[in-house]
Formats: sequence, structure tokens, C-alpha cells
Amino acid sequence: MKILRVALDVPLDTLFDYSAADQDNIAIGDRVLVSFGRRQMVGVVAEISDHSDLSPGRIKPVLQVFRDTPPLSEEIFHLLRFCADYYHHPLGEVVLNALPVPLRQTKPVARTNPTGYRLTEAGLALEADALPTRAIVKRKLLQSLKQAGTLARNDIAGLSPSALQALREFIAQGWAAESDEIAEPVLAPVKTDGLPPLTPPQEQAVTAILSGQDHFQVWLLYGITGSGKTEVYLRVIAQVLQRGGQALVLVPEINLTPQLESRFRARFPDTCQVSLHSRLSAGERLRNWSLAQSGKAKIVLGTRLALFTPMPKLKLIVVDEEHDGSFKQQDGLRYSARDMAIARGKQAGTPVILGSATPALETWYNASIGRYQKLELPARAIAEAALPAIHCIDISRAKLVDGLSDSLIDALRVRLERGEQSLVFINRRGYAPVMRCGQCGWVSTCHRCSSRLVVHLREKRLRCHHCGHESRIPPTCPDCGNADLAPLGQGTQRLEDTLGNLFPAARILRVDRDSTRRKQALPEMLERIHAAEVDIVIGTQLLAKGHDFKKLTLVGVVNADGALYSSDFRASERLFAQLMQVAGRAGRDTLPGEVLIQTQFPTHPLFQALIRHDYPGFAETLLTERKQAEFPPFCHQALLRAEAPQVETALAFLRKAQGVAPRDFDVSLFDPVPAQMARLAGMERAHLLVQATSRGALQAFLSAWNKSLFSMGGNVRWSLDVDPLEF
Ligand code: ADP
Ligand code: ZN
Ligand code: ZN
Repeated sequence: MKILRVALDVPLDTLFDYSAADQDNIAIGDRVLVSFGRRQMVGVVAEISDHSDLSPGRIKPVLQVFRDTPPLSEEIFHLLRFCADYYHHPLGEVVLNALPVPLRQTKPVARTNPTGYRLTEAGLALEADALPTRAIVKRKLLQSLKQAGTLARNDIAGLSPSALQALREFIAQGWAAESDEIAEPVLAPVKTDGLPPLTPPQEQAVTAILSGQDHFQVWLLYGITGSGKTEVYLRVIAQVLQRGGQALVLVPEINLTPQLESRFRARFPDTCQVSLHSRLSAGERLRNWSLAQSGKAKIVLGTRLALFTPMPKLKLIVVDEEHDGSFKQQDGLRYSARDMAIARGKQAGTPVILGSATPALETWYNASIGRYQKLELPARAIAEAALPAIHCIDISRAKLVDGLSDSLIDALRVRLERGEQSLVFINRRGYAPVMRCGQCGWVSTCHRCSSRLVVHLREKRLRCHHCGHESRIPPTCPDCGNADLAPLGQGTQRLEDTLGNLFPAARILRVDRDSTRRKQALPEMLERIHAAEVDIVIGTQLLAKGHDFKKLTLVGVVNADGALYSSDFRASERLFAQLMQVAGRAGRDTLPGEVLIQTQFPTHPLFQALIRHDYPGFAETLLTERKQAEFPPFCHQALLRAEAPQVETALAFLRKAQGVAPRDFDVSLFDPVPAQMARLAGMERAHLLVQATSRGALQAFLSAWNKSLFSMGGNVRWSLDVDPLEF
């Protein structure tokens, strides 16, 4: 008999022992069905041993070993274990959450649809000439199947509207049959003709990265917007493919996947490429994951969850827009996909490329001390595309028309007259950020969160953007009965109305989370912008990233001041990155671009650096400040978070946790405080900060502390957040 230590999706920091017969052929990484309490659960075998600390009578046998997919590889298990250790999160939750949903269920995955179709021997022997000349679809199907070996149903459907009918006839004739193989795509020679010659900095970057193809190295590809970073990824990936390797490309946001996907497809038309993100159905995700696990998918493109995809021939990891906060998960396992990508690259011995126009300060710092290698693309790749001119409009003096200054309105008018596009950027959806009573000063707040209720005038609703709570707009002030409640401040919807009144003939399009709720809405809107069917785009951060609009020459930023004097020490880093990104949407082609920023503080160093396009200068300033304040990257942080219905309960838990903290570690513990967003969805949130100058000391402390925390019990939801981004 052997003992299996099984990882289960339960919030306990331990593995669970089960037994299996010696002759059972079980490997680490196998999925097994076990009974746990009164339930049956799926677990993953983490260790195999010949003894257990439990008395033999208490060890239950595994109920079933699933053979529907190969076991998780040692490589991926290693990564998951590292992740669980680093974030002090139960291994079982880490492992099970990395699996596609169907693999977490208590029954083996059923093949509902065959993965594809192939020709039988009779089919292979068939010549196209044997089919009637008019049977164009059948001929095409025959030829395509001969070429590809196996075709997925979708690909067949794509051949012609009647191709599936033809397939049914082929099957009836015995010419075609189901196949469980997705044919490994033929490795076509990589096309290099017709590609633009690389600029000298691109050339240098590609050469440098390729020179270190066989070992771990983090490359920071620091290139301004439009400098051709993606082109660098493509060239390096071409080499990876040529050597039969796999490449993993991570992007911060789902909305960026379609355009990148089509750019990759166009470059590598014969390569099996899959994407992984949360908008795929469970079945699609399993299929893509399996294709990567089998080594058939050569390029895996996805959001942070794609990080844990098994890839046996992994040769390159790219993290695009590496500074983006979305790489960090904000609940459950609070991992940073960027940091774990580096850990993965280290384990797999592959290069990791971090691309950004505004690297995270931590990354910039690591490059400055030589831990990462910096490669720079200092100019836009298209020779005529200059960087946009950035100006501030001082709104402390200017008179505003519904939040817009004369200078911005004039600039918009000029673009309209020239037939060019403008983007007005405002990072607030809804009509106005709050409803206010002019008599008594009442403002609409959410009773479940410490936040304000946003006015959605068209729907006549007030909405909390944090918890989703909704109510109708009250006819009178709930406090004093005043009937003149007024929306205060600007949101995308109000801006849409204002611009519509100012420019009645202009074609205006609002792109925010509300207007893009329908699945195909965003792609359709992007299409319209590209086709120049829009004059003025009103956009939130949804539009700030990645998009390449050739006719866009003006970007107006309506209100950026909120973050300037925030208590969050990362707020100005984030604001700079965001404004740089939005500014980067202007003048990407041959038409020169201009960026106008409305602000009360035009002389603020952040804007001054932005005007000079001086990320390195700004980063130096911030690093000096961080060093003085001993903030990251000059220290390492972790938060113990707690939430409970009453703030006192959460704080009491944290004080107790402070009490049980092990001594003898070189770390500082701060006192418990309420979170910046103190109330969220009816829960009071508080945290306790731990800080250390050495990562090793912090990690050792957390390991010891974590054990005490698990034994504390209590009715408080708590979690550790290592390298927290939000406070
Ligand atoms: P980034 O990823 O840095 O924003 P891209 O790779 O998207 O930059 O390149 C920006 C634009 O420049 C794209 O339209 C791209 O096709 C073009 N481009 C990139 N490299 C070159 C090059 N070497 N020669 C000509 N055009 C290029
Ligand atoms: Zn009132
Ligand atoms: Zn709320």
C-alpha cells in the first residue's frame, strides 16, 4: 500500500493522506477522487510516500484515479508549489484553481464533441477529380482535410456555409471519421520576406535576447508607445517556433487579446495558437489548455490566469505592459502574474521579456541594479510618427463649460474641421460621480461601501461601482426634503451630452464599461473608430491601452487631478503610466498628435515630466522619494487583511494576530488600521502592515506567523497579501 498526499481545494494549509494499492499506477500530478468529510472531492496528488502520521484505520482509499488527461507535469507542479509558498496560500487551493473548471469536477471530463475530423483510408485514396466538378464545397473539404490531416469542426464550418453538410455526407460514405487528435500543425518556414526592416534599436534588442535564448534572463524592453515592442516579440517568437519551442505571452487585459491575436495569426498563419482568458467558455478553456499541455499549441496568449498553463516546450515568456496592476489578482490567491512569470522563467531556464513604456518602479529599479537587462527603444518605429506634443491647460483660472475649457473645445473644433479624430479621456463612467443637495450638502453614498453612488441619469439610477448596489434617484433630498438635487462633477455620459450640444454635427462615440456590456459591442466600436466613422471618442481606461488609431490626432484629458495628492504612495506612478498610455494614442501614424491635459496644478512635477516624455526622470524622482520613505522597492511588504461585519471584530482579530507574531525576525509590524476602502459590500475591512528590508526575513517571518494564524480560528475572513498593491 502507498500513501498519497493529496492537495484539495480547502482553505487549510495542509495536504491530506489517502491510500492506494501498490500496483496502482499513480503519479504526482494525477487527479484523484476522494471522500472528504461527507463530500467527494477532486484532488491532485502532490506527494507519494510509504508512511503516514495518521493511524492506519483513519486512512481512506482513493476512490478513483482520472485518466482523462495526462497528470500535471512536475514543472507546473513546481511552479504552483513555489507560488503557494511565496504567497503563503494553501497549496490545494493554488493547484485546484490553476485547473480549468471541468478538471475540478468530480467526474472525468466527457468528450462531448470529437475534437476534429480526418479522412479515412478510403477518403485519402479519393482524388478530387472523382467528385463532380460542380461539387466545389466537397472538393474544397477533401483538399483541406488532405492538407491538414485533422480539422476542427469550427474550421470545417469556416470553409463554406454548407461544409458541415458535406462532412456528414463524407462520413456517411465512409470517407471521413471523427478523430481525437488535433493535428499538429506543420512547422512552416517562418516568413521573413515582406516584413519591415527592424529599426537599429529593435535589431539590437532582438539580437540580445536571441543571444541568450537558452537560459534564464529577464529583459526589460523599455520602449515608448509605438516604438515597436510587439514587433520585437514577434521576431523573437519566430525563432522560438523555428526551434520547436512554445511561447507564453501575457497581456493585462482581455480587451487587448483580440487585436494581438490577429496580429500573431497574420504573422504565423500555420502555427497553432490558443488564447486563455476568463471570457472563454469552460469547454474552450479546457481545450486550449490541453493543446498547450500536449505541446501542440505553440503560442499561448492570455491574461494572468494563463500563467499556470502547462507548456512542456516552453522557451520564452513575454509580459506585455508589465507595469499594469491587473497582473496582480486582488482576491483569493493574490499573486502577481508578472512576478510569477519571472519565477517560471527561472525554473524553466528561459528568457522573460517585460515590455513597457512606463515600467513599474520595482522593475525599473531591478534593471538599474543589473538584476534585469534593459533594452531601450527610444523612438517611434514609424519614421514619420513623432511623439505627440503635450500641454497642460490651467483650469484654476479658466472658465469651464460643463467641465471643458475653451482651449480644449477649440482644439476639438479644429480637428473636426480637418476631419481628424479626437479622444476625450475621462476615467469616470456614468453621468456624474455623485448626486448632491445644494441646500444641506447631502451626497449620495452607498450604505454597503465607503463610496459614493454614481449618477446614471438615462436609467434614472444611482449605482455603486464597487458592490453593484442600485437605487432610483430620489425625487427630493432624503435629509432636508429639498427638491433640487443636482448631479455634481463629470462622467462619460454627461460629457457625451455636453459634446453633443457643443458639436451637434459631430459623430460622437462613448466607450466605457456601460456602453460595451454586450459581447460584440467593443469590437464593433473599435471597428467604427478605425473606419473613421467617429469624430470624437469619449473613453475611459478601456481605450487607453494598446489601441492603434491612425486618424487620431488629439487627446484631451478632462480631469486627472484626483490621484495627484492621494494617500496611496503608488497613485502618482499609476497616473503617470496611465496618462503616458492615453497620450500614446495620439499621432501614431503620419499625422502629428497633440495632448491637452486640464489640471489645477500645471506646474506639478508629474505633468512637467510628462510634457518632456521623461519617464526615466520621473522614475528617478519617485525612487528618491521611495528611498527616503523606505517604501518598495527599498523594502518588502505584506498585509494581513481581515474583514468582518463589524470593524471592531476585524481590528480585534488583527491585534490578536499582532500578539501571536513570532519574535526574532528582522521585520517591522505596524498597528492595525482600517483599509482605504474601509467598507465594501457590507463588510468592514482592516489590515496590518508588515515590512522588512530583506525579502528572506519577510518570507521566514510569514511562514512562522502563518501557522499561528491558521490556528487562531474566529469568525473573521482573513488573508495574507504579499507585495500588496492596494491598501
Ligand atoms: P508598441 O508595441 O511598442 O506599441 P508596435 O510594435 O505596435 O509598437 O509598433 C507600432 C507601429 O509601428 C505598428 O503599426 C507597427 O506595425 C509599426 N512598426 C513596428 N516596427 C516597425 C519597423 N521596424 N518598421 C516599420 N514599422 C514598424
Ligand atoms: Zn438636503
Ligand atoms: Zn457599494
